[in-house]
Amino acid sequence: MKNAIILVCLLLLGFLLGMPSPALAFKVPIHEQITREVLADFQVVAGGQQTLKFTDYAIDQIVKANKDTDDLPNQFNSEKHFDGEDFLGGSKRVMDLKERVISKVTSDSPQATSARNDLGTALHTIQDFYAHSNWVELGHSSPNINTKIGREIFSGADTKTLTCPTDPAILGGEGLKQLTSGYFIIDLESRICGVPQGKCRHGAPLVCPDGLNKDDDSRPGFLTARTLAVNASRDYLDQIFSDSRIAGNVNVIKLLMRINTN
Ligand SMILES: [Zn+2]
Repeated sequence: MKNAIILVCLLLLGFLLGMPSPALAFKVPIHEQITREVLADFQVVAGGQQTLKFTDYAIDQIVKANKDTDDLPNQFNSEKHFDGEDFLGGSKRVMDLKERVISKVTSDSPQATSARNDLGTALHTIQDFYAHSNWVELGHSSPNINTKIGREIFSGADTKTLTCPTDPAILGGEGLKQLTSGYFIIDLESRICGVPQGKCRHGAPLVCPDGLNKDDDSRPGFLTARTLAVNASRDYLDQIFSDSRIAGNVNVIKLLMRINTN
């Protein structure tokens, strides 16, 4: 707890000094840009020739839910950001959220606002997969997203596999072959840059900037990760809108996009 308090103080100090927080995510403006870009472009043709698009209100709400996923308490939840090799947790989360979005808007008592919040936070986790894992270093670039996301639960390197064997900021050995992501340890004595033996770190501004993260344009691989995050966000929307319960159902589509509904 003491070290958690120390980290919280560091985070607050960072905010006060106007510096980026050691967010476990694409920097918040990047998440917002990606999400707005994808939602504004997305359209569905249904009910004959009707082209349906998310309204600005819906987009604002989904973007907010995405951003809120980086609020302080949420930052320490590895499954929300695909941190610490929590691929099981992250992949299950986005599958569960997809089901929740669909069931909430197709229910007899629809909960469209709640569905859009679920969609926003799911998109955050999907985008973070590309910012925090070694998917890019494994040789993937656009359009080669991880098509398991949203469709199945998957895992990465196991706890015994050394992914950064010589330096926690440098992938090596199995880390160049198996899926891994960076750790952000906060419960060791003053070691927010520490990692389990042979594992990789996320990296944190000011204290240990090097690591696997591709959270902003100062990081190697950022542009590739960003492009993949855009592609993957679109793919997740496609998964939702092509579901048999939603596809062709104009009323449900309008509800989720908040077109002429309350
Ligand atoms: Zn995040």
